[in-house]
Amino acid sequence: MATPSPDIRPNRLGKAEIDRNFADLHEPLSRSEALIEADRCYFCYDAPCTTACPTGIDIPGFIQKIRSDNIRGSAQTILRENIMGGMCARVCPTEVLCEEACVRNTHEERPVNIGLLQRYATDPIFESATPLFERAASSGKTVAIVGGGPAGLSAAHRLAMLGHDVKVFNRDSKLGGLNEYGIAAYKTVNDFAQREVDYILSIGGIDVENNVALGADFSLADLRSNYDAVFLGIGLGSVNELGLENEDLPGVKNAIDYIADLRQADDKGSLPVGRNVVVVGGGMTAIDIAVQSKRLGAERVDIVYRRGPEQMGASQFEQDLARTNGVTIHHWAAPVALSADAGGVISIELEKTELDKGGKLRTTGEIFTLRADVVFKAIGQKLDDARIGDELAALQLQGGKIVVDQSQATSLDNVWAGGDCAVGGDDLTVSAVQHGKVAAIAIDHALRS
Ligand SMILES: Cc1cc2nc3c(=O)[nH]c(=O)nc-3n(C[C@H](O)[C@H](O)[C@H](O)COP(=O)(O)OP(=O)(O)OC[C@H]3O[C@@H](n4cnc5c(N)ncnc54)[C@H](O)[C@@H]3O)c2cc1C
Ligand code: SF4
Repeated sequence: MATPSPDIRPNRLGKAEIDRNFADLHEPLSRSEALIEADRCYFCYDAPCTTACPTGIDIPGFIQKIRSDNIRGSAQTILRENIMGGMCARVCPTEVLCEEACVRNTHEERPVNIGLLQRYATDPIFESATPLFERAASSGKTVAIVGGGPAGLSAAHRLAMLGHDVKVFNRDSKLGGLNEYGIAAYKTVNDFAQREVDYILSIGGIDVENNVALGADFSLADLRSNYDAVFLGIGLGSVNELGLENEDLPGVKNAIDYIADLRQADDKGSLPVGRNVVVVGGGMTAIDIAVQSKRLGAERVDIVYRRGPEQMGASQFEQDLARTNGVTIHHWAAPVALSADAGGVISIELEKTELDKGGKLRTTGEIFTLRADVVFKAIGQKLDDARIGDELAALQLQGGKIVVDQSQATSLDNVWAGGDCAVGGDDLTVSAVQHGKVAAIAIDHALRS
């Protein structure tokens, strides 16, 4: 039978191979491995790793407790600063955060494996659902949280701990935000995202309503009049377009939507996969969709990025991960046209780029073409202003994000914001968690003063 054009089909690989491809990216440490790794820590005074962690976890402190087999104490040290310390142990680009700052790098070019030690300390707590935190006496105050992703859940947990009654309004049908719908499947196996959500909610005092959206089901004005404070952690709900004429062609997809389908699929093999996949973008999303397409059985996967490797949002580790999975990365090239037949996209035309003398990006006129049964757009996200634009009109925005001060307060009284939707975020889970925590502490001060 002739190969259909475009060639997109499910079950490119057998179930066993797909299961292997989507198993845990990093094996957890055994006790003896953890003790050996913990022994490598110099327990620096004013530890640079702690400064480099956006949530300021006392890293030498938790590693010291692992050495004395005090796993519960170690987990408490981690989770009191970062309630998503379990997820962060799996997804943080540690090579550009805590581990980059590790003093061991200068001595032997291999940092202490902080991420895996953090996972070693926190996994047992989530498995046994051991409560580590208690609620303070009720303050009688109420806080509305819009968005149940890392920012919203971190704020909710801290506010509940401080004695406030919290209500989370969430657009998706599950809590967790991109932890549940975005992070690569092999970074968070065995439904870890939902186990972490359950742990966070188990503190009590957090009421949740899923499947409701700001702008559709309620307004910011409603929340401001019905609650003592509001926190917005709505992420970035829509995807940037390539700006090409016919990018609504069949086969041209948003990477984010496909990744969400993949994360929610019980049978990953059932997802249709292109034989030749081209990904446009240079961040974590581009790497994730490229690697996952390869692991679903795409024969050829190309990433196209308009600048060089140093400018890619994806870390060196992520870029290496893509290459070791057989993905080809083309730097200095930008899409100019899509070609299609009756079935949808079949190729993408690209033009080489370079920097001019003033450092501005320009195209060179040199064209090349890549075969593409599927083209994924992964060039960043923006606030979903088509749906919530009116709601945000009262807030000061900058570059399509909500302007906040150091305590995550917005320009509107009694409204705080954090995570990807706020200016100053760096599109990392750990930073969203920190924003939620900082906002919760500021809200607590405001409500008590
Ligand atoms: C594909 C992908 C892979 C990533 N991989 C990594 C990684 O490996 N490591 C890492 O550190 N970071 C990674 N990130 C970034 C990280 O996931 C985000 O920075 C983080 O999830 C941001 O948290 P948030 O709470 O601000 O937003 P989100 O996680 O986006 O959560 C937003 C929440 O708000 C809700 N919501 C949205 N609009 C509304 C509305 N109108 N009304 C009510 N609720 C609403 C949504 O339902 C959702 O629950 C990745 C991102 C993507 C897209
Ligand atoms: S939360 Fe992330 S950056 Fe902070 S110590 Fe843990 S792994 Fe490192």
